[in-house]
Amino acid sequence: MKVAIAGRANVGKSTLFNRLAGKRLAIVDDTPGVTRDVREAPGRLADLSFDLIDTAGFEGADAQSLEGRMWNHMAAALAEADVFLFVVDARAGVTPLDEVLAQDVRRRGKPVVLVANKAEGRSGDLMSLDAYSLGLGDPIALSAEHGDGLPDLRDALADAFALIEGHDSAEEEDGGLDPGRAISMAIIGRPNVGKSTLLNRIIGEERMLTGPEAGLTRDAIAVEFTAGEQRFRLVDTAGLRRRAKVVEALEKASTGDTIRALKYAEAVAVVLDATQPFEKQDLQIIDLIVREGRAVVIALNKWDLVEDRDRTIKAAREAASRLVPQASGVRVVPVSALSGRGIDKLLETVVEAVERWSVRISTGRLNRWLEGALSRHPPPAVGGRRIKLRYMTQAKSRPPTFVAFCSRPDDLPAAYKRYLVNGIREKFDLPGVPIRLHLRKGDNPYA
Ligand code: GDP
Repeated sequence: MKVAIAGRANVGKSTLFNRLAGKRLAIVDDTPGVTRDVREAPGRLADLSFDLIDTAGFEGADAQSLEGRMWNHMAAALAEADVFLFVVDARAGVTPLDEVLAQDVRRRGKPVVLVANKAEGRSGDLMSLDAYSLGLGDPIALSAEHGDGLPDLRDALADAFALIEGHDSAEEEDGGLDPGRAISMAIIGRPNVGKSTLLNRIIGEERMLTGPEAGLTRDAIAVEFTAGEQRFRLVDTAGLRRRAKVVEALEKASTGDTIRALKYAEAVAVVLDATQPFEKQDLQIIDLIVREGRAVVIALNKWDLVEDRDRTIKAAREAASRLVPQASGVRVVPVSALSGRGIDKLLETVVEAVERWSVRISTGRLNRWLEGALSRHPPPAVGGRRIKLRYMTQAKSRPPTFVAFCSRPDDLPAAYKRYLVNGIREKFDLPGVPIRLHLRKGDNPYA
């Protein structure tokens, strides 16, 4: 990716260039008429790498002058850019020249990240608001000098790159679900907990069966149905195609099939028998699903057989939080496959679980939280030296996957990692979601 830094003189383009290029390049000679070339350098911001193009010194020159010819030279370089960082001075506000240059940049039809520079300190965000008037989207409040706002810049750049690569970043950005999209789910559990009864009930007359959908792959089939507004695709791997056979095939799912079904499912309803919940095999199954990183919900089946319901649900929720710490807070929904009670609630809970599982947390929010978490409970010293942790970013969703930069990733105790994961889960309201945290070597990727 080629990222060009554009904007009028003195807004701080070179400072930003130097910060992103990670090292001080030769000081620019600003004497008029001195030949300058467009500066290019490899740039880096946290986990992103790109080529940087700087345009400092060519701003707004008269076309006939030497600088004007340089401007044309620069225009050629700009034509190669994939993304523009358009910089304005937040303290000075938007000037008429900003407007002219913004228009030029906008006309190039490339993604533009609007940077309101010199927005250091607490009033920075407020000052940056003026830049909205340029019509280039949300300004990123930044201080290239002090390094404030770089996490937000990282996210904006990552979005721009995703846009160019043709990813559908809009859906991912907000988390949440595309309303028309079917959620693919699997129903998994040990024998005799009532999976096939539940399946029959779910795709029974009350819900609209819109499948089966042939050809998902050679060894997987799916039944589509709609509950409320939401489409679901119930995935199974028995390999049969004929509609009449689907239910029967789903019933026969063996363990090997179960594991394969997981591959195609975003969400899993794990079925437990309410009269014998959380047996060893149940826990193994849940652990497998969590390790695969799926959104998970527990269906506590045969609820009709339960007498003391208050006590049973309490005990089940307590057992879930104790025995399934990898997905702490996983939702437990009582159902009766026999009577159909609780199934709508189960499907609603699956939708919520998938929404949470698809969450996108901005780097800015994440790091504001991280700062507090680190000061409340600093990383330990190992071998006499304190481990430094700086900056975290969400690398992907489904499941939410985070990268933290750490001075000695291999030495950070597992307990501290758990502290961070649990902190993320609590702060960003992700109960029951498998959360992945990777540590990368590096002190401060934004330094
Ligand atoms: P699977 O092996 O997990 O697919 O379990 P099945 O669906 O074959 O059910 C096993 C047994 O449990 C059958 O006798 C079902 O009738 C019974 N069963 C399933 N769901 C319920 C339920 O909600 N309530 C009661 N009382 N029995 C159920």
